Amino acid sequence: MADPDPIVVVIEDDPPIRRFLRTGLGTHGFEVFEAGTGRQGIIEAGIRKPDLIILDLGLPDMDGVEVVKAVREWSDRPIIILSARSAEQTKIEALDAGANDYLTKPFGLGELLARIRVALRHSLRNSEQSEVFTTGNIRVDLLNRLVYTDDQEVHLTPIQYRLLSMLVKNAGKVVTHRQILKEVWGPAHTENSHYLRIYMSQLRQKLEADPAQPKYLLTESGVGYRLKV
Ligand code: CA
Repeated sequence: MADPDPIVVVIEDDPPIRRFLRTGLGTHGFEVFEAGTGRQGIIEAGIRKPDLIILDLGLPDMDGVEVVKAVREWSDRPIIILSARSAEQTKIEALDAGANDYLTKPFGLGELLARIRVALRHSLRNSEQSEVFTTGNIRVDLLNRLVYTDDQEVHLTPIQYRLLSMLVKNAGKVVTHRQILKEVWGPAHTENSHYLRIYMSQLRQKLEADPAQPKYLLTESGVGYRLKV
């Protein structure tokens, strides 16, 4: 028996964008349900039990960030947010509230499908609890806390390792400065983003072939970082 099509709930008040998403995702094997308001979206997400949610941040009835918070009370399914270029701060708030990723309008279907694939793979990997993570020539053995590049063991300090393992746990997903600082340094240090810059640069020195042009430990400008898978 074939697997059922993955279900996507699209929460977006702009009819042309909704139509674009319905057609584009429909032809790529997704079953799409739509909502034009935040309230309706929360209801659809509850009824349809989607594999993934696409959420516009500018909704007529409520703030997209509130939608993320409401859905996160009972669901850990991936949420990809759509944001206008002018809504940088809202975008970061939505990521802090538990959204997985974002696309800035206007965006292409190819870009969206790539983000969807990563988000779905990430939620699958979470349920498998894999103990060894590999991306490119970087390998992290989470059980034994060992890190390798090209099969050579790399020595990391405890903070460097905590930072890397946090990115590994969220591999493929953008993590905000605040989320990393809170998890690695603790809730009292969420404003100390210079720590993060220093340690990220150290990690790149140890793990990237060209630390000035990282291929795996990527900067999401103004938002945070992403470990490429
Ligand atoms: Ca909108």
